[in-house]
Amino acid sequence: MADIDALVAELTRTEKLALVRGAEDPEGTATGYLPGVPRLDIPPLRLVDGPLGIRAEGERSTAFPATLAAAATFDPDLAREQGAAMAREARAHDQDALLAPGVNVLRVPHCGRNFEYLSEDPVLASDCSRALVAGIESEDVIATVKHFVANNQETGRTTVSADVHERTLRELYLPPFRAAVEAGVGSVMTAYNRVNGTHMSDHESLLSDVLKDEWGFAGYVVSDWYGLESTVGAANAGLDVEMPGVPSGPDDPDEEFEWPDGIPDGTRAGLFGEPLAAAIDDGSVPADRLDDMVARVLGQMARIGLLDGRDRPGELDSERHRDLARDVAARGTVLLENDGVLPLSDDADVALVGPHVHDAKLGGGGSSETTPFHSVSPVDGLTDRAGGPVTSARGIPEIENVSLFDLLPFVDSGHETDDSDGPDEEPSLDAAVAAAEDADVAIVCVRDATTEARDRDSLALPGRQDKLVEAVAAANDRTVVVLRTGGPVETPWRDDVAAVVEQWYPGQADGAALADVLYGDRDPSGRLPVTFAPEESYPTSDERRFPGVDDVAHYDEGVFVGYRHFDASDDEPTYPFGHGHSYTTFEYGAATAVSDATVEVTVENVGDRAGRDVVQAYVRPPAVEGIDRPVREFAGAQPVALDPGESRTVTLALDELALSRYQDDWTVDSGRYTVEVGRSVADVRTTVTIER
Ligand code: BGC
Repeated sequence: MADIDALVAELTRTEKLALVRGAEDPEGTATGYLPGVPRLDIPPLRLVDGPLGIRAEGERSTAFPATLAAAATFDPDLAREQGAAMAREARAHDQDALLAPGVNVLRVPHCGRNFEYLSEDPVLASDCSRALVAGIESEDVIATVKHFVANNQETGRTTVSADVHERTLRELYLPPFRAAVEAGVGSVMTAYNRVNGTHMSDHESLLSDVLKDEWGFAGYVVSDWYGLESTVGAANAGLDVEMPGVPSGPDDPDEEFEWPDGIPDGTRAGLFGEPLAAAIDDGSVPADRLDDMVARVLGQMARIGLLDGRDRPGELDSERHRDLARDVAARGTVLLENDGVLPLSDDADVALVGPHVHDAKLGGGGSSETTPFHSVSPVDGLTDRAGGPVTSARGIPEIENVSLFDLLPFVDSGHETDDSDGPDEEPSLDAAVAAAEDADVAIVCVRDATTEARDRDSLALPGRQDKLVEAVAAANDRTVVVLRTGGPVETPWRDDVAAVVEQWYPGQADGAALADVLYGDRDPSGRLPVTFAPEESYPTSDERRFPGVDDVAHYDEGVFVGYRHFDASDDEPTYPFGHGHSYTTFEYGAATAVSDATVEVTVENVGDRAGRDVVQAYVRPPAVEGIDRPVREFAGAQPVALDPGESRTVTLALDELALSRYQDDWTVDSGRYTVEVGRSVADVRTTVTIER
């Protein structure tokens, strides 16, 4: 591998400055671009969005399911495969760094980017973060973990300060980033927001003290796009690369343009070019800081083989990528309710209802939008699989797509939108009800509309979708509702329907994966990575906490986020963390402790269908005077596929994070920990104690 220090020593200052400030990509496909140094055979570095697939401008790529769906598989091995496949597609598009994964903890159920993230739980989010990074980097592509840190809402994202105590940061919000660093992540993207008053791009204690010094992060810290606040502050805090570095704004520079909330001022670019040179000249930034920035960039370029011309073959829209997109979508599908209507019989007469049954739900809006080569709508997927008739009816008008790009008239999103492919005639509720009445089973597909740069106003389904579900359910008591949402939603009709399925944003394989699960070709093996509960019962229903007042979001719920909140309060979740039914039945033997960090349990499939369970472990810590700890913390899970009558002994490694607490440093209190093993946080099947 190249001697990086020797290479840095050969560079002129102008060349160094060009390696730390974004420039225009001459090919026009990259999201971010560093020009390289031709004189020394240093090639350019191309950075591309984003977590759900590759968004190379004007190009197509596999639209993978939302990373929230990958997390719902509770199977980091599958997430790793998705990471590796996205990296091969990045290579096929001649890109070197992927602006993924997004690992922010789901603090606020309304957050417009939850679909790009992983979980409300730091252990699950860390396991997936580690796996995605390892997968991306296994293919010689730089992973960029984002958005560091406490970017848990889109409202006021460029200005809001997350006021959060150190314990909460350490126990909840930092772990998925630390896991990425442990997995060898090459790059960390700073968040737009402030933390405890300081913009993340200027945050020395988090960027230098924690990330670089304490965790030993050796890669480069890149700003979010137009997310740099200062030259000197950022350079001295430990920020290494400014992106995109090229100003953006209305074509006419004199035009008054009010930058909408959540959109950073694109004219404010170039804080690292000349201004950085001037700051070094006047001594406000040490010259060796620039050398360090450059060494960090070159170090990553060397690691992925860019400096020695390594062959890095790509792969695009291959059969295995298409299969993987379908596999993750199906495996991440959660069966929330089922009175026995599912799985469907092959010859069932099906009415498929919903304003978008002719469209695949690819993802949410913003920098993660991708344009696939092909996609399968629910109508196509079910028609293809069904042995009986499938009729379709939209029932109500389309739900309007929302996208960050709609807020920026001068920016081309570089991809096609997934506008409806439905028939031209007006949708009719009566026709939908009539179709449902005539069918054996009615399937209603509903969706939310979320985007980067906006939070949802409400957890209710948009438009008249609740009314549509109610009307169909009144017409057919075998009604199945299929949710296609970027996070929790309200399900006020759930007692009136026969089954509820959560598909998240399934990506291009949508209808095919849906048919796989509805007809029972695959067991629904997704589990909830986030609690579903009535809107007002989440801790962030207090406006001080979300969206905050006077540009401060008070994280004073502390570590009591998600199921930790519901465990500690009288509020009942609708569907608890870890929940998800199977088409078969699993029985658990008595758990045993193999060590003080490992437990074993035998699980048997006592039903008559093959199935896949997700065996989960939670730990209840001993009480410690004066310390308010969650009742229990998720400590790990193991998916297990079992044929009818088959049993298997599953080993669960308990994550140290679930046993530890932070107060100036990490502590594992001495005493007895109860380990609960079961099928969700609320469905404990067996317990065992360990001693520490
Ligand atoms: C987003 C990042 C993204 C970047 C480049 C920003 O708006 O917050 O996640 O990678 O744009 O598109």
